[in-house]
Amino acid sequence: MGYVIPLCEPTTLPVVGSGDGFPVRRIFCVGRNYAAHAREMGHDPDREPPFFFTKPANAVVPSGATIPYPVRTSDLHYEIELVVALSKGGVDIGEANALDHVYGYGVGIDLTRRDLQGEAKKMGRPWDMGKGFDNSAPMTALTPASAIGHPAKGEIWLKVNGETRQKGDLAQQIWNVQETISYLSGLVTLYPGDLIMTGTPEGVGPVVAGDRLVGGIDGLSELTVSIG
Ligand code: MN
Repeated sequence: MGYVIPLCEPTTLPVVGSGDGFPVRRIFCVGRNYAAHAREMGHDPDREPPFFFTKPANAVVPSGATIPYPVRTSDLHYEIELVVALSKGGVDIGEANALDHVYGYGVGIDLTRRDLQGEAKKMGRPWDMGKGFDNSAPMTALTPASAIGHPAKGEIWLKVNGETRQKGDLAQQIWNVQETISYLSGLVTLYPGDLIMTGTPEGVGPVVAGDRLVGGIDGLSELTVSIG
């Protein structure tokens, strides 16, 4: 059987040390996963269950890109995050074997139209248009877990025009990677190709046209993105 419109090409991420790409299926994002960031957003960082929102797979932008300043916002924020890429899916995955489902890790920015997100929060509406817009997920190439293991600690940072804006440690995550995979797989069936953006440390803020963002996590490739 053919298709009545052209089949869409999968979004892919490059893989460090490989000529082959990682096909992206879906992008799940954890909200408020670092206590200091939860506080700066006006929330009590008690260990409430994690909560999730999504971005479309084609929101991914490769590191090194220049993206246009997004439409319909005047308050574009950066959030530097560890990206977890799944090689295996499942339902009700136990914490003990959750990391066996991870292909590798990358560095991403959860770009946010903070004004639209704030309006949605106030109105009790979905966050989609504040979070899941075009080019809202700049990401590095993935580094396979077979090469670096599963980072549970290590510096995570972001600079804007050379000035440090965010600095934290993966060990500060309220829900670690295995807990996050386990919890999320109790809400939806996970599939190979799914990505999880695991939340951001404190220091989020706005960027404007002409800014250059560079971010990193110990042991992973550096992410660079410019706002056109
Ligand atoms: Mn985020």
